[in-house]
Amino acid sequence: MLQRPSVHGFHFAQASRTWRGATDINAFARLAEALPECRGTIMYQVRGFVDSERHSYVDVEVETVLALVCQRCLGSLRWPLKLGRRLYLAHDEKEAERLEADVALVPDAEVLVADAAVDLAALVEDEVLLSLPLIPRHEEGQCPAEAPVTELN
Ligand SMILES: [Zn+2]
Repeated sequence: MLQRPSVHGFHFAQASRTWRGATDINAFARLAEALPECRGTIMYQVRGFVDSERHSYVDVEVETVLALVCQRCLGSLRWPLKLGRRLYLAHDEKEAERLEADVALVPDAEVLVADAAVDLAALVEDEVLLSLPLIPRHEEGQCPAEAPVTELN
């Protein structure tokens, strides 16, 4: 059973706390619903930081192998996933806007309004859901549905 800690985002960051673990993908209900097949383990880590300019943020890291369905051959598709996302914390929308302009230098960083409780498991789920390909497909040359290459002489 997955624990879903609900934390105060800023306290979590300021105390440099970490939430990490490895669990069955099924433990994440929204992932289980979104994925065609739900097996395997998901490793996750959420760590809190404060940078030299007093910005609070969390780094979300996820590593897993998903089983998707190739939309070309409808066969099973092994989808290794390793992602990291930095989320800067804002108290309200106004601060979020300011931060968004501020943190533009950090590639791929996002701003999260975190004045109330933050569901850490939901952050992990969101990152995985956002990373799912719109149309999953086997790589070029690895899909059984591809027409065999005929050599022209
Ligand atoms: Zn395929």
